Amino acid sequence: MDGQLSPMPEDWQRALAIVAHPDDLEYGAAAAIARWTTAGREIAYLLVTRGEAGIDTMDPAEAARVREAEQRASAAVVGVEAVEFLDHRDGVIEEGVALRRDLAAAIRRHRPELVITLNQHETWGPGFWNTPDHRAVGRAVLDAAGDAGNRWIFTDLADEGLTPWDGVRWVAVAGSPEPTHAVEVGEEDVERAVASLAEHRAYLTALSDEEPAEYARGFITGMLETSAGRTGGRRAVTFQVYPRG
Ligand SMILES: [Zn+2]
Repeated sequence: MDGQLSPMPEDWQRALAIVAHPDDLEYGAAAAIARWTTAGREIAYLLVTRGEAGIDTMDPAEAARVREAEQRASAAVVGVEAVEFLDHRDGVIEEGVALRRDLAAAIRRHRPELVITLNQHETWGPGFWNTPDHRAVGRAVLDAAGDAGNRWIFTDLADEGLTPWDGVRWVAVAGSPEPTHAVEVGEEDVERAVASLAEHRAYLTALSDEEPAEYARGFITGMLETSAGRTGGRRAVTFQVYPRG
């Protein structure tokens, strides 16, 4: 964890953020998303599950409803209106052809230049094992960015009118233990990121004794300041960028 990070590419207009669960984007990436939507970029969210297995004290059917609503509210706080759900099963997402196909279809539909996802590595850093859903989705997103552009993969999608999109120029992985790039964020972006995480009220209330807004502020500011050592002292969201093409 040393050396300065490169600035994130800024010459793009459309991004699609694909993650496993409601709240995955709010644990940091939302500060960058707030900055980008303020600058007029179009960003959509695609959630592979509704996070129905995420609240120990709540029945999955109820949790799915609550968490979908919380996700839509937290997206709206950072200027994201398009929020879609794929309804794979929370906790047991299978990395494979079916998931790649669903993701390639979404990429063809949204035609993003930048795809954002969450850490696909085995760990968050030494000693912190990542979850199977995050690993499966992150890896499938990296694969699907290529699948979306190949007319001979998932030919049935073309029959549905989803023609190939080979325009993904970067896949940016948030929360990676091996970041390569960073985007600096301002005071307003940080405030919106805190509010965005705090919208996951039922989830955070079950997770911590702290008030959701307080918990969110502590987590987001701590995370952004951790990156500051590699961005000239400025608060930033880090990404591991995989360029394409
Ligand atoms: Zn998650």
